[in-house]
Amino acid sequence: MEKTKTDKQKPVYGMASNCAFMIRRAWRDCKSVLVICAGLIFCGVAANLLELFVVPAVLDAVGRGVSPQELVRMILWFTLGLVAVYALRTYLDENALLGRVHVRIELGQDVHMTFCRTSYPHTEDPDYMKRTVRANRALNDNRAAGEAIWETLTGLASNLISFVVYLLLLAQVGPLAAALCVALSAVGYFAGERIRAWRYRRREEEGELFHKTSYCISCARDVKLAKDIRIFGLAPWLTELYDKYTRLFADFYAKAQRYYLWADLLDVVLAFLRNGAAYGWLILLALRGELSAAEFVLYFSAVSGFTQWVTGIFTGLGALHRQSLDLSTLREFLETPEPFRFEDGKPLAVKPGHLYTIELRDVSFRYPGAEKDTISHLNLTIRPGEKLAVVGKNGAGKTTLIKLICGFYDPTEGQVLLDGEDIRQYDRRDYYKLFSAVFQQFSLLAGTMAENVAQSAEVDLPRMWDCLERAGVADKIRSLPQQENTHLGREVYLDGVDLSGGQTQRLMLARALYKNAPVVVLDEPTAALDPIAESDLYQRYSDLTGNCTSVYISHRLASTRFCDRVLLVEDGGIAEEGTHEELLARGGRYAYLFGVQSKYYQEGAMDDE
Ligand code: ADP
Repeated sequence: MEKTKTDKQKPVYGMASNCAFMIRRAWRDCKSVLVICAGLIFCGVAANLLELFVVPAVLDAVGRGVSPQELVRMILWFTLGLVAVYALRTYLDENALLGRVHVRIELGQDVHMTFCRTSYPHTEDPDYMKRTVRANRALNDNRAAGEAIWETLTGLASNLISFVVYLLLLAQVGPLAAALCVALSAVGYFAGERIRAWRYRRREEEGELFHKTSYCISCARDVKLAKDIRIFGLAPWLTELYDKYTRLFADFYAKAQRYYLWADLLDVVLAFLRNGAAYGWLILLALRGELSAAEFVLYFSAVSGFTQWVTGIFTGLGALHRQSLDLSTLREFLETPEPFRFEDGKPLAVKPGHLYTIELRDVSFRYPGAEKDTISHLNLTIRPGEKLAVVGKNGAGKTTLIKLICGFYDPTEGQVLLDGEDIRQYDRRDYYKLFSAVFQQFSLLAGTMAENVAQSAEVDLPRMWDCLERAGVADKIRSLPQQENTHLGREVYLDGVDLSGGQTQRLMLARALYKNAPVVVLDEPTAALDPIAESDLYQRYSDLTGNCTSVYISHRLASTRFCDRVLLVEDGGIAEEGTHEELLARGGRYAYLFGVQSKYYQEGAMDDE
């Protein structure tokens, strides 16, 4: 696979910083995680040392010729100590999970909220999407970095402390052997570090493969695609794609495993040298009569313990390194700079009853990576309370224009002004409060009808029924078994009800009315309505939008009659503007397109007759 530019990037945060980050999070979200870790470290060290000292201590006592009762008492104390430490360790282990899961879930919540609240262009940016997937990988399950790090840290700390105790012991008999052990351990660590860094450099590649496999899985499970998958027989194609990416994924892991194998091999060689040197030194001292039997047993068993601790330290560091890389990715995601201003922007309070002027001044907009502007040097002033219609062919730039007006994109050139002020200075979430909308995609959630209209669990019932009436869906909701408390959709609630496309669109309209914002945007709001419902909506348009400023996108030119002004958008600019009648009288593009459409409808009507 081709190497991406970011392959060579170093993680922004190192191991120490990521450990400190997790400790701060645990301190904030669940302190018991830290208490349990400290307890487990204590148990780990205590168990290691008790096991290490029990035989030499008994041997020493025998050597000193202590009474059998004293010997039995001593063995009993050691045994009791070990039992107590093991019992405490088991108790702490059993209780460690809940707090650790809590910290991980809180972090997961941060990732979800960051995605929900990030600047809109990020949601269309494939790179940002990939980074979201990678950030989630640090939190996917119990083995992911956001939770597994606690086990790694406790293991590592108890091995490190035991290692230091052993070094102090060994330094007493042979400082040279101790120094050699430390040197060989250091070589092992740094060599291993280099090999392990390999994976981070390829995190882009890994993330991309993971993203593609997850995409195939989510497509296969997507209820909205279920019909197409069956009609077009897409299952084999999806399976083929899935197989391809899992194979590439498997190849990637096989390659990674080969690198880790080198690290493991190096560990074995270094352990052999280390232990060989230590055993040799001890045997030499024993032969020279410089060590008592008890001391010899103590140091000898410490050597095998040492190997276990050093291996534990390396394995722990390797795991910590990998987890730290994932945590760095997570933190980098959470700290992604926002192109829009939010809390750092100027607050913008919606003034009750005030209608705003929105102006697009010499606005151009180009999608990232596109060769030409989708909107080019466009000037438009939407007057307070104006009912504006935007028409044009598919791909003319209508939706892009609306997204610029709503503040979903910032212009590449020019300005969007609210009452003469550039909207970029405001907290963008405050700016969104000025708008209510019905977009083309169905976007209702699995909650009750009432919650969907109010977008909250607190519902103003009279206001909700008024909006349902105005949107023409009140009768339908009244006819449901639990009326407004009926759940929408069956994806989450078994007793949920599925609405037809038209009914869903009307419910979305009721939601837009309930928000009661100064500007209403309707993007093809009649696409799923039948002709009678559509005509009914046109006739009641003024009643629906009240005094609000409204922007209405439609491909049905006749539907613009009830608007104060019609814009015909073509090639990213305003080709014509005026009232429906003015544009017809002008006899230009609008009149031509209207002629084509009406001819079609009239012919259709005659055919029907
Ligand atoms: P309309 O709403 O008039 O059908 P759009 O505003 O959706 O037109 O699209 C205008 C042009 O911009 C089209 O050529 C479309 O391919 C392009 N476009 C729309 N959305 C994106 C996007 N997210 N990224 C790149 N190009 C886009």
